[in-house]
Amino acid sequence: MNILVFGPNGSGKGTQGAIVQKKYNMPHIESGAIFRQNIGGGTELGKAAKEYIDRGDLVPDDITIPMILDRLKEDDCKTGWLLDGFPRNKVQAETLAKALAEAGINLDYVIEIILDRDIAKLRITGRRLCVNDNNHPNHIAFDAIKPVEKDGKMVCRVCGGELKTRPDDQDDGAIDKRHDIYYDDNTGTMAAVNYFKQLEGPKVISVDGTPSIGEVSEAIMSQL
Ligand code: AMP
Repeated sequence: MNILVFGPNGSGKGTQGAIVQKKYNMPHIESGAIFRQNIGGGTELGKAAKEYIDRGDLVPDDITIPMILDRLKEDDCKTGWLLDGFPRNKVQAETLAKALAEAGINLDYVIEIILDRDIAKLRITGRRLCVNDNNHPNHIAFDAIKPVEKDGKMVCRVCGGELKTRPDDQDDGAIDKRHDIYYDDNTGTMAAVNYFKQLEGPKVISVDGTPSIGEVSEAIMSQL
């Protein structure tokens, strides 16, 4: 099963992706997480991407597109994948669709989490990243995924690992820029969403991102 998941930053896209990934045991390929791992590891890719990410800009397509297309060729993707954070603009969408068609790979589902921009922004600043596993969602404002306290410190609710905030989640300008890109239906991410929605083939699952994590996940799972 091959799935694309879309949603503005703060919509719970990563959290929902982690739930689907766990249930179907498929690789959860998150473009932003790959960049952050490379930044953490001090790689050339990380160095090239960092300034864009810190500002909330997209990393240029000539870096991002090959990175994702190469990742999809790895062995663990042969039986299915969940792609999260890519495509982020119309060019990426068209390039991905072409690459999949050429490789004879079907896209089965397009999941779209719909959320008002103001709510998405409010949600961003409360999320926390587990240093051990990107698929351990933590958020200080949601009981279902609230970090736990250990020795006077808030730690990951899943593994007790250290929690970090993302620099681009604490920067108002970077948050706004990411949302400008997401909600742009001309060349931005909404243009990519609409591109995939009009293709024949994939089933589109559009869900409201405002209810609880469990309710959103139920809405997605019942249609997968
Ligand atoms: P995310 O974790 O999805 O919020 O992504 C964090 C940052 O990584 C974004 O603000 C971009 O700078 C960069 N990024 C992630 N995915 C892409 C993409 N598909 N194209 C370009 N830049 C990306």
